[in-house]
Amino acid sequence: MLLELKGLETFYGASQALFGVELDVAEGEVVALMGRNGMGKTTTIRSIMALTPAKSGSVRFGGKEIRTMAPYKIARLGLGLVPEGRRCFSNLTVAENLIAAARPGRWNIAEINRLFPRLAERRDQMAKTLSGGEQQMLAIGRALMTNPSLLILDEATEGLAPVIRNDIWAVIRTLKAEGQSILIVDKTLSELLPCADRCFVLEKGATVWRGKPEQLTPEIQDRYLGV
Ligand code: ATP
Repeated sequence: MLLELKGLETFYGASQALFGVELDVAEGEVVALMGRNGMGKTTTIRSIMALTPAKSGSVRFGGKEIRTMAPYKIARLGLGLVPEGRRCFSNLTVAENLIAAARPGRWNIAEINRLFPRLAERRDQMAKTLSGGEQQMLAIGRALMTNPSLLILDEATEGLAPVIRNDIWAVIRTLKAEGQSILIVDKTLSELLPCADRCFVLEKGATVWRGKPEQLTPEIQDRYLGV
């Protein structure tokens, strides 16, 4: 397994958010992390990156225990996060944002421009002047520029115009076709499920269901994902 979480328990101060999360991602897989609002998806991702380190359990990446490692070291090992809320350097241009993230590998500026022609057209524009959708593309571009072995997308299409969402889903499908390993959180099940190889469902901070998208029956969806 590329990534393997076991018995993950994470706290915000005295308040426990994760109560034994189990999750794994194999090389080349797209894995969907699902669950209703507040069930612990973002906290799981923050624990993987040690932004909010887990208190117990294990996070293995490429066979190495990373639970207590510094976040910058984890990023360097090959975990690329596109965080919820698409953070970029607002006072840097598009090109500067991409260059700042660059690490050697298959992804470079030319390849990102090919993937996101809208970014290529705006290369000298300050990131803060981009639309929300363009900022999201830039956030994905930045994560890819680190040439991650695992790309993590947290609500990458949330709050975007339909045309831009479609563009981003097309990019995610392209990445999948190229064999990029991806861990993804997204509420648009109609796009997410056809793209995912496997799904994990969280409820109250614990993994309660895992399986293939075709096994996620309407009953299971109702029980764990319905509003
Ligand atoms: P959403 O879909 O709404 O983003 P989520 O599944 O990502 O939800 P988390 O954001 O991980 O859920 O939240 C899990 C639990 O941890 C919730 O009970 C939430 O209130 C709590 N929580 C999240 N962030 C913090 C924080 N910074 N401080 C305290 N509690 C937090």
